[in-house]
Amino acid sequence: MSQTTESRSETRWLARRNSLVDSSGIRNVFELARQLKDPINLSIGQVDYPLPQPVKEALIQSIERNETDYTQTQGLAALRQRLLEDIRGKFPGQQRSVFVSSGTSGGLVLAMMALLDPGDEVIIFDPFFVMYRWLPQLFGAVPVPVSIYPDFRLNIERVLQAITARTRMIICNCPANPTGVSFDATELETLALLAADKDLCLVSDEIYSQFVYDRPHRSPASWNPETLVVDGFSKSHAMTGLRLGFVHGPAAIVEAMVRLQQFTFVCAPHPVQVAGITALDTPIDHYVAEYRKKRDYMFSELSKYYEVVRPDGSFYLFPRLPAGTSGDEFVKRAIGNNLLLIPGNVFSMQDTHFRIAYAVSDSKLEQGIEVLKRIA
Ligand code: PMP
Repeated sequence: MSQTTESRSETRWLARRNSLVDSSGIRNVFELARQLKDPINLSIGQVDYPLPQPVKEALIQSIERNETDYTQTQGLAALRQRLLEDIRGKFPGQQRSVFVSSGTSGGLVLAMMALLDPGDEVIIFDPFFVMYRWLPQLFGAVPVPVSIYPDFRLNIERVLQAITARTRMIICNCPANPTGVSFDATELETLALLAADKDLCLVSDEIYSQFVYDRPHRSPASWNPETLVVDGFSKSHAMTGLRLGFVHGPAAIVEAMVRLQQFTFVCAPHPVQVAGITALDTPIDHYVAEYRKKRDYMFSELSKYYEVVRPDGSFYLFPRLPAGTSGDEFVKRAIGNNLLLIPGNVFSMQDTHFRIAYAVSDSKLEQGIEVLKRIA
């Protein structure tokens, strides 16, 4: 078979949407990383502590009881009930519906599937979590990045300028991946009221809501009850591989999403939902306190050598690249020193920053800082 026939036969059935998604940025880092032995890995967006013991036991016991069948599409009643208690406490007086998703990603996919028509525009803040750029396009919608450089705070003028007759959705993510920075209460209120005023659906990704170091977490839903909140257990309870999330908001939207879940994800894994009930009663405060210390250490060290905004949450820092260096060059230089980072252009339309994930041991952080000093 000739080269052309071979490559033609391998790709000719692929739908056009495949060409809309580009994951080369992160893949390149992981390709380069494969050559490293025991790298200083500051590229991973997940916690370094294990699944908390009570959650692990609940999961095992559920499996021992053979609870490996389907649950209701919207999730186990006991888990939804427990989630609703928390939600009602956080948003008193609001009528919010909830359903259980396959991770926060599952919630995001269904939100876009339920809410976006082809040609609709979705405002995302740049830098953004990677999915926000690619997911809308899979549904024919158009992501519209609104820059929040250099301080990663809300710039409402830029949002207003980005709104057109086709704008349908705004995605907010506080605390944020990749910056670690949150909009403050005033900014969230402004954004929430703007969405209400312009009749736009506000989607709030609150997966890092428990990783807040300077002030309690606030949700834009406090000021705009129609906000759709997506959240999950991946980060808080070391459950990235277990795929458990939840979504709450207006009943009509939640119902539409559950309908779509029926024909896509079907349900979140049954034993994991059982474990989720225990997770809601398993505080992670001591881990958050440790991550606050890591944040303090990383910020105070890094800011000696790099321009970096002080993060207040999640477990990321997003420093500026040394002048005249591209993200790819810088990351290659880091990998040459056994250090893994992600270039900022994976999360942005511009190539001026890089992402550090500091959810690793203090000794790895110290080694990472040593390298970062050297290559600054
Ligand atoms: N939203 C943000 C902002 C994230 O950083 C991540 C994970 N990196 C997700 C959603 C997806 O999380 P999950 O594992 O719950 O799908």
